[in-house]
Amino acid sequence: MTTDAPQTGETTVPLPTVILKKRKALPFFSRHPWVFAGAIARVEGDPQPTDEVVLRSHEGQFIARGLYNPESNIRVRLYSWDENQPLDRALWSARLDDAIALRRKLFGKSAAGCRLVFSESDGLSGLTIDRYGDFLLVQWTSRALAARQQVFYELLNEKLSPRGIWQRTEKGVGDAEGLEIADSLATGSEPPRPLFVEENGLQFGVDVVEGQKTGFYFDQRDNRAAVARYLKGASVLDMFCYTGGFSIAAAKLGDARRVRGVDSSESALDMARRNAELNGVSSQVSFEQGDAFRTLETLVAENARFDAVILDPPKMARSRGGLERAARGYFSLNRLALDLLEPNGLLVTCSCSGLLSREDFEQILAKVALDANRSLQVLEVRGQAADHPVSVHCLETSYLKCFICRVV
Ligand code: SAH
Repeated sequence: MTTDAPQTGETTVPLPTVILKKRKALPFFSRHPWVFAGAIARVEGDPQPTDEVVLRSHEGQFIARGLYNPESNIRVRLYSWDENQPLDRALWSARLDDAIALRRKLFGKSAAGCRLVFSESDGLSGLTIDRYGDFLLVQWTSRALAARQQVFYELLNEKLSPRGIWQRTEKGVGDAEGLEIADSLATGSEPPRPLFVEENGLQFGVDVVEGQKTGFYFDQRDNRAAVARYLKGASVLDMFCYTGGFSIAAAKLGDARRVRGVDSSESALDMARRNAELNGVSSQVSFEQGDAFRTLETLVAENARFDAVILDPPKMARSRGGLERAARGYFSLNRLALDLLEPNGLLVTCSCSGLLSREDFEQILAKVALDANRSLQVLEVRGQAADHPVSVHCLETSYLKCFICRVV
């Protein structure tokens, strides 16, 4: 077994130490894994970028072990609260085992498509892995963890024997972390385009190489099935339909009469049409290109009506400063949707902006309902699927809200 860093102890060199400012230690004793630059009083021992460090309180008490990145606003990401547990191959291996065990419990051994590792929620801040059958899609959002990518790729190959591991980056990570990773094949063979995953008994083609984010939004799996239960015989508008996740579930699982999917991305719509065909629902489902706001406005002007409207926009708030603007965006979208709903129609409204709380979102919906002079009943308050667990130590991992509502 190899270790990535010297052990603390009498005979080995002590690790560099990051010492917090006074009264800044509580979140980290509570196991929040992000130490922002502003919380740090001083750094001792000259750690190099990506080095392992020890975090101590202002009074010198041990808190946790983490990885150091002077270029990131998250100066240290914490991985172990045990003073004797170095951040080595054995630790990463154990974390991967725990993550894999959860997904096996959820989906059985053959887990075709799921999120295998969800960053902070799986004790691996800065690493997200999605599984698409025999292929893995890995996203690094921590430079220091990415510096250990060879160890992770070896471990993944040992544990899962994937045919290929493809790595991707997320928008903005290069700047935020000083991380240069190109979209590329890490090990094995390139994933076919498209590859196919099964969800709720439906088939979906996914392009992990060119698709958005990680190719398919597994976080909505249970919500797609839940929504379908309300849609028998319904006419449905699926805004931000991407590759047809909600649309096809509505038609096939829900037996909706007619589904109209809208998205701004032509390539997503191409895949959506192929997915409709693949599932034998092309005659019920149609897809069209358009901007959501403009399309909704046009439909309202045309006096169009639907039994159900689904809104699943992309993340609208990326920073606290952007929250107000995002709230206005959510208000407009939902307000327009209400004008398209028949009496007692169904509004399925989602927000994947983690910064916008459940309560904030409820308040927006209350304003929307008042403004439209309609009553809005929340039938189901839903979140992300269980392969995207929420860490109670890092509530930023609770990001997805999906409200199923009846609009009287
Ligand atoms: N509901 C989808 C996921 C939606 S992801 C599913 O179940 O898989 C968000 C989608 O919004 C993306 O497909 C993106 O192309 C689309 N999008 C982003 N901005 C848009 C806009 N202004 N108008 C329409 N679609 C938009």
